[in-house]
Amino acid sequence: MPHRDPNVRKMRDRERARRWYSNGENRRRKLTRMAEWRSSHPEESKERKRACYRKHATQYRAAAAAYHSSHRGDKADYDRVYHPAYLKAHPEVSRAGTAARRARKVSNGPVERILPSEIWKRDGGICGLCGLAADARNWHLDHILPLALGGPHTNDNVQVAHPSCNLRKGARRALEGG
Ligand SMILES: [Zn+2]
Repeated sequence: MPHRDPNVRKMRDRERARRWYSNGENRRRKLTRMAEWRSSHPEESKERKRACYRKHATQYRAAAAAYHSSHRGDKADYDRVYHPAYLKAHPEVSRAGTAARRARKVSNGPVERILPSEIWKRDGGICGLCGLAADARNWHLDHILPLALGGPHTNDNVQVAHPSCNLRKGARRALEGG
């Protein structure tokens, strides 16, 4: 029986949705359906993402600012772990990293042909990590679920990222032992 107070109704719906989503099987099915929809409706998917960004631009920017201020130490961490001077002094680390990356790309399942220009268009040039506009001449292709964690090299698993955001993510993972 729906409650007559719309606020109570909204809260109950939200609670029901949360319960449904906390079930791993439901969540997995939903994410799969969403991914299928996105790959069969690339244009609509892109437009929706843009519309969502336009609608919530203020929140996006606030979230990004909060993220940056709470991860201020990451840059120092990154410099310590992956500083070019460090890699130059330890070529075996750099080489091993590249070889391992190549091997993982293959072992993590299907390897799709990925056209960076298509990913850029699909994402509307927005960094998937901080939600801000990226630079078309200088951006990274980020693996949403990193290759190192079993993520596949597929169109669905890559996104546009600022080089700094992408490197921060990698450095954080390295520090966490991921
Ligand atoms: Zn970013």
